[in-house]
Amino acid sequence: MDKLYGAIEGGGTKFVCAVGGGGEQILAKTVIPTRDPEVTLASVAQFFQQQTQRHGPLVSVGLGNFGPLDIDPKSRTYGQIMQTPKPGWAGFDLVADLMRRLAVPIALDTDVNCALLAEAQYGAGRGCGDLVYLTVGTGIGGGVLSGGWRVRGTGHPEIGHLFVPKHPDDGFAGACPFHGDQCIEGLASGPAIEQRWGCPAQNLPAAHPAWELQAHYLALLCHNLFMTVAPVRIILGGGVMAQAQLFPMIRTRCAALANGYGVPPGGRDWEAAIRPVALGGEAGIRGAFLIAAADGVNDRV
Ligand code: ADP
Ligand code: ZN
Repeated sequence: MDKLYGAIEGGGTKFVCAVGGGGEQILAKTVIPTRDPEVTLASVAQFFQQQTQRHGPLVSVGLGNFGPLDIDPKSRTYGQIMQTPKPGWAGFDLVADLMRRLAVPIALDTDVNCALLAEAQYGAGRGCGDLVYLTVGTGIGGGVLSGGWRVRGTGHPEIGHLFVPKHPDDGFAGACPFHGDQCIEGLASGPAIEQRWGCPAQNLPAAHPAWELQAHYLALLCHNLFMTVAPVRIILGGGVMAQAQLFPMIRTRCAALANGYGVPPGGRDWEAAIRPVALGGEAGIRGAFLIAAADGVNDRV
């Protein structure tokens, strides 16, 4: 193997670490439960040390991490975890700590942006330079590829906190700690569904009215994204989207919301415009390899 890269998907429950050639070939992979930063990153470093002893030195390591996270290289707090309830992680200087332990360059982005890149390269967004990736799980997150570039702004988009109008029959108070029932995360994340209906989302039957309302909200979100960034496609993943019945419901509602106006391109093929993810749990780590192997901060895919 020409060049060896490391990849880390840092999550709230687990850190997935891997080494490989940066493309399809993964030589070794491990899953480390997330505890406090010191314990977690000591295990991460140990894995990479073992791997470099076996396979040789790493060119760089790509890190796709949970947020909120400062990914602006010009910022004073670049590479640090921001406000989070996870014990020990708020304000933690993640990139500096990893560079000290591993002594290799670290390429950093959010877990969501890594998944977006991997879906664009290998998955449901193949060939789409204009793509939106959404994850509907414990929170709602999203990444945007525009003309082949990840949209970052001064940090990264927070699509989960876009405001959508509340359904007139929905009496739920909302689950977002910042925006209550005003933002899409407050209305349509997994915990929002659970709190509204008093039952974990995965236990609600496919015919439950919860899913009509869920499709209603996700269609509003997709409509707003089609109108803002004009992607070829929006792909949706995360625990909640395991409810496959949502896809045709969202497509029908999106068509109704657009009302013949402008979107999506290519003859209003809603089947192609709104799709499930293809890589599932693999997207984050594969995207981390992609950013490790890229030279700059925001390389075109
Ligand atoms: P995370 O967002 O923490 O990375 P997930 O994407 O798995 O993890 O999202 C977890 C959320 O998804 C929980 O709120 C859970 O209730 C919900 N969920 C998990 N599986 C399903 C399912 N099969 N159907 C509907 N909701 C699900
Ligand atoms: Zn919010």
